[in-house]
Amino acid sequence: MNHPGAPDPETLSLLKAEFGPDLLTSTGELAARGRDDSGLFLPPAAVLLARDETQISRLLVLANERRFAVIPRGAGTGLAGACLAETGGVVLDMSAMNRIITVDEKSVTATVEPGVLNIELRRAAAAKGLFYPPDPASLDTSTLGGNAATNAGGPACVKYGTTRDYVLGLSCVLPTGEALRVGTATRKGVVGYDLTRLIVGSEGTLGVITSLTLKLLPLPEGQACVAAVFADVGAAMRAISAVMTRGHLPSAIEFLDARCLRLVGDLLPAHVRAGLPGAPGEHGEALVLIECDGGQGETRRAIADIESLCRECGALGILPAPDEAARQAVWDVRRSVSTRIHESCVVYIPEDIAVPVGRIADMVAALPPVEARHGIDIYAFGHAGDGNIHLNLTAPSEARRPAVEAAAEECVRLALGFGGTMSGEHGVGLAKRRMLPLEIAPVSLRLQRGIKKLFDPNDILNPGKIFPEEAC
Ligand SMILES: Cc1cc2nc3c(=O)[nH]c(=O)nc-3n(C[C@H](O)[C@H](O)[C@H](O)COP(=O)(O)OP(=O)(O)OC[C@H]3O[C@@H](n4cnc5c(N)ncnc54)[C@H](O)[C@@H]3O)c2cc1C
Repeated sequence: MNHPGAPDPETLSLLKAEFGPDLLTSTGELAARGRDDSGLFLPPAAVLLARDETQISRLLVLANERRFAVIPRGAGTGLAGACLAETGGVVLDMSAMNRIITVDEKSVTATVEPGVLNIELRRAAAAKGLFYPPDPASLDTSTLGGNAATNAGGPACVKYGTTRDYVLGLSCVLPTGEALRVGTATRKGVVGYDLTRLIVGSEGTLGVITSLTLKLLPLPEGQACVAAVFADVGAAMRAISAVMTRGHLPSAIEFLDARCLRLVGDLLPAHVRAGLPGAPGEHGEALVLIECDGGQGETRRAIADIESLCRECGALGILPAPDEAARQAVWDVRRSVSTRIHESCVVYIPEDIAVPVGRIADMVAALPPVEARHGIDIYAFGHAGDGNIHLNLTAPSEARRPAVEAAAEECVRLALGFGGTMSGEHGVGLAKRRMLPLEIAPVSLRLQRGIKKLFDPNDILNPGKIFPEEAC
């Protein structure tokens, strides 16, 4: 199928006249919007720095009249190429629409423009004793519009859910140029089909989000955490199951496999390393980090109990975090994994499969044969509490890229076989669209394509994303 692409030269001149200095066409500006964190590079023909709904609507009307592509973009931290102009087109940069309109203490909600960074809302909410829980690891750099369009989640998902659970309502401009308000400003609402939840997670293919009404929660008084090293993944998962079935609801349950542990083992404090029967990664095969939040006394008691449960389940070493500095040190071990993986390889493909929590050990156990078959390395870590395991497939040279790609598809097939999904949080975009039919049944695919057609009859908004080409 031929998707709309770049505006022709006459249309580009028209856009320059229409939008003046907000339309950017310099090589530098285009190159900067030609990348996200997927590693792909697809520069657009032009960039419109969005200022308001009227301007966005005008661009979309022109795109329909003159058949060019418009691609919404937040901060470009996406990992699936979903904000890139594959066919050329005009990138609609939403980062300048970045006002926090209200943090409403009475209704315990916030209304924001889409270009606000996640961290900025968290800070503004915290200043009023309130809490915005969705916590993608990119929270310092990603926008709330991008978070909504990708339904971003993070470690806190195990307790608090994903972005979708916090979007009460939103305003958007449809691909036709019409403005639409969906959802409510209330915590409940069951009138009509739930278009809010449909647009959230639609990767900028159904509408351009121009404001979000978000649910907030009371700010927890504090957090406490503990990390434990286990002899194998099975023991680690038994500990997690014990924690979850004995009355605890941690605000994060993170996991590192043996390969990751080898990579960051030197960051574990000496006393923990000394307690292990060998070097981390040799005998310690899995690290679990568990965090609880709430009242100070309550979290301390919960963590003490969780520590005992970990010991009962055979923890080889415990890394307690009695104060904030120690807590940060524990998280540093977890956070340093991605960087160290990047530093250690040439080819790197991140998959973010999710499997039912009860199948994590099976999934991890299935990886060594995949590594052996393809001659590559797979690092597994991530959000064990919700089964979302980041599989980082790596090789030391470009020549091995085809092998890494083949292994990535095999991992996706394995995850699906365990009742999981190919993406827990990064989305489909360009990177995973060829694999979509592995997960989505033909009837569902037909319905989803029908929804896209209904919203966007001329396929001008973020064309080519999510759906595989051959089945168009
Ligand atoms: C270091 C790092 C860590 C990460 N950790 C996580 C994580 O823990 N969890 C997670 O979920 N993701 C994670 N990500 C991925 C990424 O940060 C998220 O997908 C994030 O939500 C993207 O936000 P963005 O503003 O960068 O959007 P972009 O990358 O610019 O765009 C992403 C998608 O949103 C669409 N979009 C953006 N703004 C709008 C809008 N206003 N209206 C309509 N569509 C729009 C785009 O078209 C595109 O489809 C991580 C990325 C990095 C680099």
